[in-house]
Amino acid sequence: MAIITRAIRDQFNPAKLSECVGQVEMITIDETKAIVAGAHDAFENWKNTSSVTRGEILRVTADLLEQNIDTVAETATREMGKTKNEMIGEVKRGASILRYFAQEGMRATGEVLPSASEMKILYSTRVPLGVVAAITPWNFPVAIPLWKIAPALVYGNTVVWKPSIEAALTGQLIADLFEQAGLPKNVLNIVQGRGSSVGQVLLEAPEVKAITFTGSNGVGQNILNTAGHTNKKIQLELGGKNAAIILADADLNLATKLTIEGAMKQTGQRCTATSRVYIEEAVYDKALDQLLVEAQKIEVGVTMGPVSSQGQYENILAAIEKAKSEGAKLVFGGGPTKDQSDGYFIDPTVFTNVTHDMAIAHEEVFGPVLAVIKVKDYEEALRLSNDSEFGLSASIYTSNIQKAFDFINRSEVGLVQVNDETGGAEPQAPFGGVKNSSTGAREQGQAAKEFFTTMKTVTINTK
Ligand code: NAP
Ligand code: MG
Repeated sequence: MAIITRAIRDQFNPAKLSECVGQVEMITIDETKAIVAGAHDAFENWKNTSSVTRGEILRVTADLLEQNIDTVAETATREMGKTKNEMIGEVKRGASILRYFAQEGMRATGEVLPSASEMKILYSTRVPLGVVAAITPWNFPVAIPLWKIAPALVYGNTVVWKPSIEAALTGQLIADLFEQAGLPKNVLNIVQGRGSSVGQVLLEAPEVKAITFTGSNGVGQNILNTAGHTNKKIQLELGGKNAAIILADADLNLATKLTIEGAMKQTGQRCTATSRVYIEEAVYDKALDQLLVEAQKIEVGVTMGPVSSQGQYENILAAIEKAKSEGAKLVFGGGPTKDQSDGYFIDPTVFTNVTHDMAIAHEEVFGPVLAVIKVKDYEEALRLSNDSEFGLSASIYTSNIQKAFDFINRSEVGLVQVNDETGGAEPQAPFGGVKNSSTGAREQGQAAKEFFTTMKTVTINTK
């Protein structure tokens, strides 16, 4: 028998770099191929299992997740740095995602249609695709995997899931809960390893019929280059550069509080984070003062965690330096947090005097950094906010209903918010972006069914 040598990776706590949180055993390329083959073999049985039974397994997984909320949240906090409170919120959301899709097992998947012939019965039904590869990032280590895995499973697909290596221990806990809930063997398969090795195998495997990915634009492009010419279904949820607009008639207390929350929650490491804010000049000074008061309230190390990794730490600090060198004015934060050098802590950071051509106005930072931009009026704010390669989320703060509806209509994004922050998605609502933020297929809600199934039209001649 061949001896398999697996690489071992130590996982460190980004809040305390001396603390090893655990070890990840990385599987080999050959093992990954065997796992994909196993998922392929398991498909026929799973597909033929009643969708009600499939849904029931998701419901039991939701119960188990709630029972294990502390362990899962604690593991993720120590592994990728999000605060425990933020993780508790995410795990609860994970449970509601599972419950929503558990119910899908009892809902209709097709329709009966009239036929031109009185002798014929005509109907449509939805069928699963086969093996789905789910490739996920570290920043929502529970919710993003679940909003891919849960619909994939309930609609009858088998899944090979590659979590981010930076959230591997959390991933393992989630996979174990599905097993405890009674999911048959090989229906959900977790593969631990780097994207460039095991991830790449998933992109190339002929048994994989669909790829659902959330992550960076660079890796998204690689997925298209590798699998775009095949007939695999591909869903990519990518980066963002989300804008908020504060108009002169806005409730400034609400607008500034939510803009800072939108920018700094989860240390700015959300694809929907508020990254730039356009403020009408009439209220600019007042709004800026209030934004800084809100930023002041953040306690780094208590209400705001570290960034997740050395790579993130270096990239964010480099983006801050670049903004300074391009002439943006640093008005808050701007570097590593004092007395927190045992972790990847960065102060909440705010820049003013930002012009549209600066990198800080159009490149994703994925960290606790907000660019503040003064505008003449709503039209200028709308034009600048839309002038972006990204189109994930955008907010407007106003008490003017015409402007709110105009923004809903003209904002070039997949998620539009009025008097609310740029982040946030409920399991029953479709989620996703336009432009370079997404390939278009929406996640969650009823939209998930479109991606994870295909349609079959049936004609029965009763004659
Ligand atoms: P990433 O670097 O693109 O990684 C995402 C996943 O892809 C990881 O599991 C990674 O594996 C894997 N991967 C890397 N190279 C691969 C390859 N050649 N083939 C197959 N898989 C590969 O993203 P991240 O740093 O984890 O997350 C941050 C990014 O995600 C940001 O750009 C953010 O905007 C985006 N994001 C978007 C959304 C959305 O819904 N639009 C939500 C959250 C995050 P490793 O384990 O090796 O890293
Ligand atoms: Mg990355």
